[in-house]
Amino acid sequence: MPERSIVNGPKASSTPQEALSGLLSQLPSTDRLVSSPKGQALLQQHGATLVTQQARELLAATRQRILGGGEINGELTLEEQLVEGIAAKVAPRLRPMLNLTGTVIHTNMGRAVLPQVAIDYVHAMMQHPLNLEYDLRTGQRGDRDSIVEGLICEITGAQAATVVNNNAAAVLLTIAALARGREVIVSRGELVEIGGAFRMPDVMASAGASLVEVGTTNRTHLADYQNAITPQTALFMKVHTSNYVVQGFTAEVTEAALAPLAAAKGIPLATDLGSGSLVDMSRYGLPKEPTPQEMIAAGCDVVTFSGDKLLGGPQAGLIVGSQDAITTIKKFPMKRALRLSKLPLAALEATLRLYLQPELLKTHLPTLRWLTRPQADILNMAQTVCPAVQQALGSRYEVRVQNMMSQIGSGSLPIDTLPSAGLSIAPKLAGKKGLGTALDHLEVALRALPTPVIGRIENDHILWDCRCLDHAQDLTNSLQLLKL
Ligand SMILES: *Cc1c(COP(=O)(O)O)cnc(C)c1O
Repeated sequence: MPERSIVNGPKASSTPQEALSGLLSQLPSTDRLVSSPKGQALLQQHGATLVTQQARELLAATRQRILGGGEINGELTLEEQLVEGIAAKVAPRLRPMLNLTGTVIHTNMGRAVLPQVAIDYVHAMMQHPLNLEYDLRTGQRGDRDSIVEGLICEITGAQAATVVNNNAAAVLLTIAALARGREVIVSRGELVEIGGAFRMPDVMASAGASLVEVGTTNRTHLADYQNAITPQTALFMKVHTSNYVVQGFTAEVTEAALAPLAAAKGIPLATDLGSGSLVDMSRYGLPKEPTPQEMIAAGCDVVTFSGDKLLGGPQAGLIVGSQDAITTIKKFPMKRALRLSKLPLAALEATLRLYLQPELLKTHLPTLRWLTRPQADILNMAQTVCPAVQQALGSRYEVRVQNMMSQIGSGSLPIDTLPSAGLSIAPKLAGKKGLGTALDHLEVALRALPTPVIGRIENDHILWDCRCLDHAQDLTNSLQLLKL
């Protein structure tokens, strides 16, 4: 293998200058590297474009390193480096992770995990052309919304429905379609910011509507809305303050209280629920979330909510309401730019079909299954995995089973926690010295796993909440590859 000689370096008798040019002259050409046995195998597998490009980059980088007097990769031959470089380039960027943070609907981890029926349905539907916008009765062009509109109306009791890319898009489109160039009245207590720079005042501006703030941060009354009405008023907007609470001396005007005023004045009333659970969470012993059904019954003209929060489906924004309002929204040109693609549409349809069979939800919908998982069951899982985890982490760490609290996540109130259980991991040290470093070291190693294991740090311990861990093997298999 000629490349190996580069690593061994020049003969000891040469001057530094000679040594350098000696090293450089031993570098093979791109062609020679590509036509080496490993290069040929790579060509077969990946084609000439990627392999040649990678070989060129590798040789250029090696040349630079030699000229800079730096270390050359002494462990691997150039051929081996080529294999590694290409493997890294074509490796998948997304990786499944074990979410042991205790936050069930985790925005940074892709929110809801789809029900198996939705995964199977997407898989089947993406392999063929399908009746996405094709009316099979008439043979004419169809409307993709019709795939889910009937289901959404049946579940929520709304007259009409449409879907877009996410709930932020649903809110933006609703305001733009109903209030562009005019005024929208919103309570000061509801001018929320949701993670990722979604702020109600900015959304209003993007939609081309003027925000008219009424009331105060803690108290808003019906008269505040009434007094703000002008000939320019196009919409009353309510926003569910999902991620914070104002406590103490407070007053808000509910949708049910605002709806009669809206109807009397002929001003539509929209409400953004954020999570918007399609079933009453309190039925499962969970904190109450307002449902779209209740909002429709209260007299809202438009209700918007997410597909991938408590609903437990794909990223999507659902807009339900009166026939008039939904027709206006669907006709607005921005709708075309925000439409849902066929992948999430199929996943949403399959998820919604589960809601026609509410008894199945608790077992089939991962989000709901995890949120309702009994603490005893989670504790049992923690006890099952504890010995294997202790073994994988070794004697420098202490692993214990303990009770802890989980969060629902994704805008649901941070104060709403669920009794849970899991593992508490701490480095075994005499004092506090080196504690942070040891914890960081472990966290880095856990993130580097092919299936990263993600927990949370609390009081100098790594906590692994086992609520979302379905199979002990998922964790123990992953930890087998741990390099500490
Ligand atoms: C989460 C949330 C949104 C944004 O929904 P996405 O589906 O993330 O776009 C908007 N409004 C409220 C109140 C929310 O909680």
